[in-house]
Amino acid sequence: MLKDQDRIFTNLYGMHDRTLAGAKARGHWDGTAEIISRGRDKIIEQMKASGLRGRGGAGFPTGLKWSFMPKQSDGRPAYLVINADESEPGTCKDREIMRHDPHTLIEGALIASFAMNANTCYIYIRGEYIREKEALQAAIDECYEAGLLGRNAAKSGWDFDLYLHHGAGAYICGEETALLESLEGKKGMPRMKPPFPAGAGLYGCPTTVNNVESIAVVPTILRRGPEWFASFGRPNNAGTKLFGISGHVNAPCVVEESMSIPLKELLERHCGGVRGGWKNIKAVIPGGSSVPLLNAAQCEDAIMDFDWLREQRSGLGTAAVIVMDQSTDVIKAIWRLSKFYKHESCGQCTPCREGTGWMMRVMDRLVRGEAEVEEIDMLISVTKQVEGHTICALGDAAAWPIQGLVRAFRDEIEDRIKAKKTGRISAVAAE
Ligand code: SF4
Repeated sequence: MLKDQDRIFTNLYGMHDRTLAGAKARGHWDGTAEIISRGRDKIIEQMKASGLRGRGGAGFPTGLKWSFMPKQSDGRPAYLVINADESEPGTCKDREIMRHDPHTLIEGALIASFAMNANTCYIYIRGEYIREKEALQAAIDECYEAGLLGRNAAKSGWDFDLYLHHGAGAYICGEETALLESLEGKKGMPRMKPPFPAGAGLYGCPTTVNNVESIAVVPTILRRGPEWFASFGRPNNAGTKLFGISGHVNAPCVVEESMSIPLKELLERHCGGVRGGWKNIKAVIPGGSSVPLLNAAQCEDAIMDFDWLREQRSGLGTAAVIVMDQSTDVIKAIWRLSKFYKHESCGQCTPCREGTGWMMRVMDRLVRGEAEVEEIDMLISVTKQVEGHTICALGDAAAWPIQGLVRAFRDEIEDRIKAKKTGRISAVAAE
């Protein structure tokens, strides 16, 4: 279990003083100017050595991503944009940082921006996060007053401005290029890549988009050293991580733990176990709604990190763990996700616009058992035509949960169809 002295987020539950004074007393904003004085190359090198992989879902190495930014400006400004749009069903970890431990994020924004030659950073916060926006803005205001932001920020010699931008509440704005469009005042529709944001991002300038947690862990990594961070988790899966556990556990929570913690330990140590006991588990979505679920047998020895879950054809995603016990209608649960993705598709590419509706309608019939068994394969074929054939990853996100469902629970889907034909069940309404 992660020891208290190794926790980066010391006020995750809002039990302590959230003001700047409280944050400083817990060790934040300590030696920030010294960290910056190490210089860009050193900071990026240390971030690479820490092994930090992006906490927003894709798991791309953070230090490497920073190194894609131009070393010398060609006259255009560079930007850091922090993705605080956290809208993936089940995901609620960045929210805890912003409302209870906002100084981790603000200090991280300053250091990361310096490392990427950016004098300006935008935090794009989800439309529904009203209280989080207030808490974060109050912390930003405090920092300006204390000289930690603005000219010669934190006496580092670096001029730095930080703006908080409130989104209007669309899931697709969490996709990095849609987020940039939205920030520019346009409709939140993903852009074709290339060009990648490091070449032409916000206002056509070099931009890096990072998740809140990825930035908030930066100051502590640089204070305690990359080796310290790399000492947690299996190789290539370094660090501590926020896990958000919801669903059928006795005590849902967000908790910071070491990467590569076994799923069983995570649930039993921090969440009071599965409702009705471990044997009552039916399935787990380990990383937010877009990753394929694990069945009970896979849960038995599941390791919560990028590589293990990828080997199981699932993913760590945002580490939002959704637990389903035996009482769950798992077909209906995945249908609900299909409905979500259909609703959130921006509609600019045909496979996603049409495919998400198509998949949702077939899923709707599967919930009620009003389908032919052959349609299961037809549905999988549609998911394959959507997957990898769209501008952004929403198409994949809509396809993967269905593929995972069919892999793990095909018998249950077929049984329902057969039972419906023989009149052994009444329809289960999909509302
Ligand atoms: Fe829009 Fe879907 Fe295409 Fe993404 S995949 S750009 S959400 S239509």
